[in-house]
Amino acid sequence: KWVLYGTEVVERDKVSIDLEDRGYNFGDGIYEVISIHGGKPFALRPHFLRFVESARKMQIALPCKWEDIAMSVEELLRKTGVQDGIVYIQMTRGVSQRNHVYTHKEQAVITGFARSTSSMEEEQTNGMACFVTEDLRWLRCDIKSLNLLGNIMAKRQAADEGCQEAILHRQWQCTEGSASNVFIVKNGIVYTHEANHYILNGITRQYVLSLAQKLNITVREEAFSLAALERADEVFCTSTSLEVAPVVEVKGDIQATYEIGQVTKTLQQALQQVLFEEVNA
Ligand code: PMP
Repeated sequence: KWVLYGTEVVERDKVSIDLEDRGYNFGDGIYEVISIHGGKPFALRPHFLRFVESARKMQIALPCKWEDIAMSVEELLRKTGVQDGIVYIQMTRGVSQRNHVYTHKEQAVITGFARSTSSMEEEQTNGMACFVTEDLRWLRCDIKSLNLLGNIMAKRQAADEGCQEAILHRQWQCTEGSASNVFIVKNGIVYTHEANHYILNGITRQYVLSLAQKLNITVREEAFSLAALERADEVFCTSTSLEVAPVVEVKGDIQATYEIGQVTKTLQQALQQVLFEEVNA
């Protein structure tokens, strides 16, 4: 019933979105998904910093300070009472007569909701099957934009093949998942694509990288090939909702099966620990 509209928490039927909102016409906007544990948001600040960064890259002016939106998110959580789930926040460039050219005069439109979600325990414990397919997205995947056609089409294809996630590649170099970052482990070394315009620099990815460093696990932030993926000792995906989820099978452009390995389990536990500590701080 309660949703975020601008920096207000209002009843859902009080929200009205114009049919010429650029988010609706062009997918001209950005979003974030933040996980909620025991009623508390995890990694709120890094998510908002990325939100601000996506806005800057797309030249969308924030209509208020991000701290004001964050305060409304807290209010949204109080009012909805969501304990375990997600908060979704999006900001479109706003309303203008439909025209490709934006004028910098549009007023950004912010909306959001909180929702309980089912646990990812199954994926986290037993692992996922992933469908490996070509990355057909644009070249600014570092922006968390509302344009997700390449992602949703890959995800649908994965689901049609009985897989929980798609793993994408550009000319046989693995980039990321349709909604997650992808890691492989080979001879104890962790590899994941460097954070450039080919991938979204996941907040969970960043946590896992810093945890790996603390645990003296060697990490190489560099693209790895499908051949390397095929020969990997362990494979896992990270995202806000999956946290660390092992991959036990890949099909599609390559086929392989994997055991759930020690490095994956260690990082999964370490992330759960940090998450628990941060939300209970
Ligand atoms: N890559 C893509 C394409 C995604 O959609 C997501 C999830 N939003 C991620 C990576 C993981 O990001 P995060 O850990 O911040 O959820």
